[in-house]
Amino acid sequence: MKISKFNTSIHYNGKFIYHNSLTEKFLLLDPLLMDLITAAKNEDSVNSIEEIHEELYKSLLMNGFIVPKETDEIQSVRVLMDKIDNQEETYHLMVNPTMNCNFKCWYCYETHIKGSKTSPGTLEKITNYIDNIMSNQKGIKQFVLSFFGGEPLLYYQDVVLPLMQYTYKAADDHKLALGISFTTNGFLINEEMVADFLKYNVTGLQISFDGNKELHDQTRFVSKSRGSYDVIVENIKLLVRNHIRITLRINYTEQNLIGLEDILHSFNDLSATERKYITLSMNKVWQENNENLGDQVIDFKEKATIFGFSIPDAFEGNRVKNSCYADKRNQSVINYNGDVYKCNARDFTKENREGVLLENEISWNPKMEERMSAKLNNKPCLDCSILPICGGGCSQQALEYRGKDYCVNNFDENKKKDIVLNMFLSNNLMNA
Ligand code: SF4
Ligand code: SF4
Repeated sequence: MKISKFNTSIHYNGKFIYHNSLTEKFLLLDPLLMDLITAAKNEDSVNSIEEIHEELYKSLLMNGFIVPKETDEIQSVRVLMDKIDNQEETYHLMVNPTMNCNFKCWYCYETHIKGSKTSPGTLEKITNYIDNIMSNQKGIKQFVLSFFGGEPLLYYQDVVLPLMQYTYKAADDHKLALGISFTTNGFLINEEMVADFLKYNVTGLQISFDGNKELHDQTRFVSKSRGSYDVIVENIKLLVRNHIRITLRINYTEQNLIGLEDILHSFNDLSATERKYITLSMNKVWQENNENLGDQVIDFKEKATIFGFSIPDAFEGNRVKNSCYADKRNQSVINYNGDVYKCNARDFTKENREGVLLENEISWNPKMEERMSAKLNNKPCLDCSILPICGGGCSQQALEYRGKDYCVNNFDENKKKDIVLNMFLSNNLMNA
C-alpha cells in the first residue's frame, strides 16, 4: 500500500484537516495522528500505521488516503476526465441572439456590436441543428439550451421566444428532458416573459450585481442618469415568486465588498421559501489584484446563508467533476451570425472561432479537437495533490498555456490549500 498522492493536510484550529482530492473525503485529525501519517509517508512504511493505530488505518483506506501500491492514480484522473468531458447524455447548446446590449458597462461596452441580431436564415439553421442533434446524437437524454450574448433578451420576440418554442416542442417529440437558461442583466424581464419561462421550462437565470445599489448603478446603467439596480431587484423578485431559480452573481472587488449586505436587505420582503430560489455566486473581478479577500467573502456568504439565500454545493468547486461546458464534446456556442465557438469567455472573433453553422450541422475546424485533447498535458499538474479537483484549469487555459509549464494557482501551495479549506468550510456551512 502507499499514501495517495492526492492527500492535502491543513492545520486548522489545533487539528489537521486531511483531504483526498480524488475521493473528496475529509478527515479531522489530532496532530499526533497526522505525525504518524507523515512519518509513515517519509519512511515509506504505510503498514506501520496499521500496527500502531488500526482504526486510523482502516479509515484512511476506506476513504482513499491509502491506495494499493500498483495504483496508477494519474490514470484514474484521466479516466474520470475523459468520462465527464465525453459524456453522451446531455447536449448543451448556447446561443448568442445578439452581441448588442442595453447597458453601457465600461468593461464590455467596447465589444458591443450595434445592429447584430440572429437573422431568420440563421435561426432556421439553429432549429435544424437542434433537430439533428435530438434525432441523431447517440445516447442523448437531455437537451440544455442557454442564451448568452450581448443581452439575450434584447431580441426576445424575434429570436429567443421562437427558439424556446421550437426546442420545447422538439424535446417533447423526442422524449428528452429539457432545461433552458439565461445569462442576462435582468433589466428587460417582464410578466409576459415570466409566463413564457414557466411554459417552456426555463430552469434558471444568472443575473449579476456589481456591488450594492450605489456601486452597481455606477457600473451597470442604461444612461448616466438611469441606473438599473432597483428594476433588476424587482425583476428577480418576480421570478422567484414564480419559483424560477436565480443565480445571483456578485462580481466583487475590494471596494464593493464593503456595503454588500445592502443587497440582502433589498430582498427583505421575500418569504423564506422565495429566498431559497436565489443561489449566491461570488466571483472576483479579474482586474482585482488583492488576493486576501477570502475572509470577507466567507463572511458575506455566511450572512447570505443566514438571510436564506442558497449557496452552491461545496463540491461544485471541483473543476474536474464540474468541468466547464466548453470542455465537453457535446457543447457548442452559436453566435448571432452562425459562427461557432466552445468557450464564451473570450472574444467572439473570426480568429477564435472553432466552426461554422451549416444547414443542419456544425463544420468544426481543427481548433476544436486541439481543445478536446489540451487538458492534462502539463507536467506540474501530474505531481499536484489537488489535480483531481483542479484538473489543471479549463481547456481554454490549457490551450493558452500550451508548451509552457503553468499552474492556474501560480504554483502557490497556500492558494491550493485555501481551495481545500474553502471546500471544507462551505461544506460545514451547508451542514450547519
Ligand atoms: S475560460 Fe475556461 S472556464 Fe471560462 S468559459 Fe472558457 S473554457 Fe470555460
Ligand atoms: S494547475 Fe496548478 S493547482 Fe491545478 S492541478 Fe495543475 S499544478 Fe495543481
